Amino acid sequence: MKINAGRFLKLLLVAGVLAAFLGAAAANAQEPTTVTILETSDVHGHIYNWDFFGNAEKDQGLAIVSTLVEQERAADPNLLLLDNGDTIQGTPLIYYYNTKKTDETNPMAAVMNAMGYDAMTIGNHEFNYGQDVLDKFISEAQFPVMSANIRNSDGSQKYTPYIIKDVNGVKVGILSLTTVGIPVWEKPENIAGLRFDDAIETAKEYIPKMKEEGATVIVALSHSGAHVEPADSRAEGAWETDYTTWVDKGYADVPDQNFIIKLAEAVPEIDVIMAGHAHSTIPQSVINGVLIVEPYKWGRGVSKVTLKVDDAGNVIEKTGEFISGAEVTPDQAILDMAKDYQDTALAYVNSTIGTATGDFPGAYEARWKDGALADFINAVQLDMAADAGYPADISLAAIFNNEGHFSAGDIKISDVYGIYQYDNTLYVMEVTGDILKRALEHDAEYWAQVDPAAPAVTDPETLLAGDVRDYNWDMYSGIDYKIDISKPVGERVVDLTYQGAPVTPEQKFVLAVNNYRAGGGGGYSMFKEGKILWKSMSEIRDYMTEYIAAKGTLDPQDYYVDNWSLLPASLYGESAAMAPATLPVSGGAHPDSSSTALYFLLGGGLLIVVAVVVRRRTNRIPE
Ligand SMILES: [Zn+2]
Repeated sequence: MKINAGRFLKLLLVAGVLAAFLGAAAANAQEPTTVTILETSDVHGHIYNWDFFGNAEKDQGLAIVSTLVEQERAADPNLLLLDNGDTIQGTPLIYYYNTKKTDETNPMAAVMNAMGYDAMTIGNHEFNYGQDVLDKFISEAQFPVMSANIRNSDGSQKYTPYIIKDVNGVKVGILSLTTVGIPVWEKPENIAGLRFDDAIETAKEYIPKMKEEGATVIVALSHSGAHVEPADSRAEGAWETDYTTWVDKGYADVPDQNFIIKLAEAVPEIDVIMAGHAHSTIPQSVINGVLIVEPYKWGRGVSKVTLKVDDAGNVIEKTGEFISGAEVTPDQAILDMAKDYQDTALAYVNSTIGTATGDFPGAYEARWKDGALADFINAVQLDMAADAGYPADISLAAIFNNEGHFSAGDIKISDVYGIYQYDNTLYVMEVTGDILKRALEHDAEYWAQVDPAAPAVTDPETLLAGDVRDYNWDMYSGIDYKIDISKPVGERVVDLTYQGAPVTPEQKFVLAVNNYRAGGGGGYSMFKEGKILWKSMSEIRDYMTEYIAAKGTLDPQDYYVDNWSLLPASLYGESAAMAPATLPVSGGAHPDSSSTALYFLLGGGLLIVVAVVVRRRTNRIPE
């Protein structure tokens, strides 16, 4: 029989009504069970709605998360609350209680216990203060702190790998997986006796066991993110587009540190992947049938997953969303219980760690002519690199804002945060003279072009080239150079020398540089051509704090090396001779860099030895 279009539509309608009727009847017989799961990740020590770096209130931290959790608990008292790691590192508060006041309960354990967390996955930053600090936190947490793929060296289980929770009669298995990049970033002594197994193989190993034990819903709480992301990842629905069109985030240097997409492709029996580590906001994404969420960072919101589960325990519907903490009132109960921790941390950041015998000026004064502040930051970076066993020849640093400086007198921790507002880590990388030259030419674009006979400048800010960013103007230690801003862009770097000899394009240098710049941030894509030798796990700022505390006294003349200037010299007028005559005139060596200081003392022979050592170490880094 031939069915015309009108009749076909009628048939469809009848079938639809019938299906809806049958569906409703079935639902009446057995309503699906709702399982609600909330996730935080990368909270990084934030409890109060306070920004220690900007010294002001900010909509973040567990007190705001607690308000969101209680709102959700009002709707579903049996919800699961999970944290995905990078929890006990990141603020001066947690730093203080991990390193200075270790006899008290870890503040994150105390607050998370009060909030009723059900489980947590160990993140890479959990190892930053050594295993004793992590073990103490685990012993204080009233919830399991887990990882299935971090094991003892002999392959035995070190941490709880998974738990199975009964939620409204549904058995929800939560498997913890951790990024495998830890051996690349962490100090060897902090991960002694541990090995980091492949996350996907580990998931394949444990999920059958979890199912044998009755789990019908599988959640992979994974301290790991997506290795590719939508080009405009903040656009509405961006994470629901076809993931094969997403772009590389440049994580190739540590393969599989962000493994969640590969996990979803390889292990579709996972119902939900709760992601982290990448500090991305993934409201929801579905890859190979696996729901993926990620809740940004610092307690600025939570991921919420809602599952509808049938009588047999199968997930029949799953949705994800990000609930922002912006303009949410913090939970007073959490503020009250954490008040001692917060007050102690504030007193700590306002405490004196050292003394400056003179000024280290900041802002434009320190950007348009060589000064002690950038030289100091570079000295700290070179010291940090040498301390890690990766001595560098050259360091570069920017003066991020106009407020940061040291005045003669007390140096407080808050002064360090003022100078170093970003939570950057340090990279040591090998670059060629050619890369270095191109980076300097890009650097020089910070300045507008001036007349070769330009008069003396009193306000250097007037020399800037339009809409430039101060944090993208790098000042280098370890090389000598001039930047002639009477020349057009691309032809400005002159007299570039290393240890008194002109830099050649194929010459190799070891560079100490922050992670932002190493990743090509600020348009410095040429640095991505360099070879990464080492990445720090700890932040430059924390190292700077320890460095100052260890030195006690900072003399700007110990740091200041006159190794760069702008041309034409007429710009500086009479003030061109800024360097006191007694100060050393560069030569590439920095008085505080153990590596370059050694070159200075011992000459070229040692260079070859260091170069060989560096090259051998390079082999340890996965390509
Ligand atoms: Zn992480």
